[in-house]
Amino acid sequence: MTRPRIFETITGLRADVEAARRAGRRIAMVPTMGALHEGHLSLVRTAQARADLVIVSIFVNPTQFAPNEDFDAYPRDNDCDIAKLAALGVDAVFLPTVGEMYPKGFATGITVGGPSQDLESVTRPHFFNGVALVVTKLLLAALPDLAIFGEKDYQQLCVIRQFVRDLNIPIEIDGAPTVREADGLAMSSRNRYLSARDREQAALLPAVLRETLQALDAGTTVADALDRGRRRLSDGGFAVDYLELRAADTLAPVDNATRDMRLLVAARLGATRLIDNMGWSRPS
Ligand code: AMP
Repeated sequence: MTRPRIFETITGLRADVEAARRAGRRIAMVPTMGALHEGHLSLVRTAQARADLVIVSIFVNPTQFAPNEDFDAYPRDNDCDIAKLAALGVDAVFLPTVGEMYPKGFATGITVGGPSQDLESVTRPHFFNGVALVVTKLLLAALPDLAIFGEKDYQQLCVIRQFVRDLNIPIEIDGAPTVREADGLAMSSRNRYLSARDREQAALLPAVLRETLQALDAGTTVADALDRGRRRLSDGGFAVDYLELRAADTLAPVDNATRDMRLLVAARLGATRLIDNMGWSRPS
């Protein structure tokens, strides 16, 4: 097991990547906020299957947290994360400080549109601009051939595809499927905030997504299937932010012509906010 090369500066990372590129190696990046779980590690394995050199970044990005959110409390465990990445044979880990990413005098922002509207943006209006800024900076720091993001954060994946296309960033963006616990709950660094009782109840979230897709398969109207799903979640103790069916590519509202769709949910159990999603195609 070789320890990955660790870089804390953009200059150091660039020099390493440039040497690999000159040697003709294909480079993949997996951006994360750390507290790594099997979901993150599946992205790493996907990256390893598609590239010769894999860089994982670990950076809890302050610009995507609102002042009332959990930036300070967000779980951080670099030693444990690096051990997990070493066990997978990851080549390089980028671990910048906040000062490296946003030095004194930093004054630039990115405003995203399109798929960033609605859904997450209703409760977290600051979120996708912060994600766009940090992902752009990470991609430009490493300049990989491709970067892998999880479908777990489906709206985020759509937003990233949109701004990478709009800004002509010459990097391929790939999505990877959601990794779930045995009871169906999507893995998330924030699941550890759940009390034992809430953790058991949390499995209702993916169960309701599956039930809603089954109802749609059986010919229930979209409005009725969503109403029933929202009610099931509220009855199960969730405060529902949204349960919506959207076009899979643009996240625009669906109509009878929309073929590929995504069912997306955000709901709170106590103080913990969970998100999840699943795909659905209209039977032909
Ligand atoms: P995060 O550290 O939460 O910012 O996530 C880093 C990357 O891992 C993002 O692309 C997420 O979508 C992805 N990810 C998080 N949880 C999962 C999961 N359960 N399955 C697959 N990918 C995930």
